[in-house]
Amino acid sequence: MTDQHCPGFEANKSITEVTVKCPECGQKKEIFSDEMDKKVTCSSCGKAFDPMQNKVE
Ligand SMILES: [Zn+2]
Repeated sequence: MTDQHCPGFEANKSITEVTVKCPECGQKKEIFSDEMDKKVTCSSCGKAFDPMQNKVE
C-alpha cells in the first residue's frame, strides 16, 4: 500500500493503548495515549485521576 491521500490517518499510527489503574479502587482501564494529558474518570468509583502517574506496566 503506497496510497497516501489521507495524512490524518498517518498521524493516528503513533497512538497506542495504555492501561491505567484507579488509585482509589484499583479498577483497570484502557485509554489511548493521546488521552494521557487529561484526567481519567474511573468507571467503577467515579474518581478522576492522572493517568500519567497511574500507568500499569
Ligand atoms: Zn476507582
